Amino acid sequence: MVFAQSVFSQKHVIATIREFVECESPSDDPAGIKRFVELFAETVKDIARVKMYPGKHLRCEFLLPGSKKTGQILALGHSDTVWPSGTLRTMPFRQSQGRLWGPGVFDMKAGLVFFIYAMRALLEQDRPIARKVVLQVNSDEEVGSPSSRPLTEEVARASAAVLVLEPSQGLDGKVKTPAKALAITRSPSTAAPPTPDSILRTAPAPSSKCLARFKKSPASPVSTVGSPSAPVSSTAAPAAT
Ligand SMILES: [Zn+2]
Repeated sequence: MVFAQSVFSQKHVIATIREFVECESPSDDPAGIKRFVELFAETVKDIARVKMYPGKHLRCEFLLPGSKKTGQILALGHSDTVWPSGTLRTMPFRQSQGRLWGPGVFDMKAGLVFFIYAMRALLEQDRPIARKVVLQVNSDEEVGSPSSRPLTEEVARASAAVLVLEPSQGLDGKVKTPAKALAITRSPSTAAPPTPDSILRTAPAPSSKCLARFKKSPASPVSTVGSPSAPVSSTAAPAAT
């Protein structure tokens, strides 16, 4: 595991999650979103080229080892949360019994932080990465992605695979597949959790149908990142946040 070998400790990861969670960023609070995306950009500025788009959507291209890059992998996340400004007063960040609590810890600030540390681990270990890795962080995901959608579709079309950093499903930690681009299924008994390294090396090309939709779909309890050859449902209902 790339991550397990890293010198970054759980303490570092939790400290960054805390910093992100304590910077509230509900979808309907432009000032909060602005503060958060600025914090995010600052957090990755030493390892990525960061570009801000209208609507406060961020695109970060990570400066990973390896001189030859063929194609790109897109990681997709969101900066907004469903928790109103001021939620911290009644639900402060806390760590208790092996869990973290606070507005947006689960969806999806921890996912963003894990990805940042995965990129740091690759850099730290100087592993040549064959593809460009781009992370797009949208600010309007919880309200249906009205302004980020064209940006997402554009960058997804240029990507060999899209990884969505949504939280895992349930206490078993099953991978949620909220974007159609990610699909697809293996049985729980045979599914091996993908490592950042294996994803970067083996990410498949997406189908054109995958790229057409980025609305949330119900989490599939048996899905993991893999071949996108399975059919994509168009009747999905929104997932809970
Ligand atoms: Zn989410």
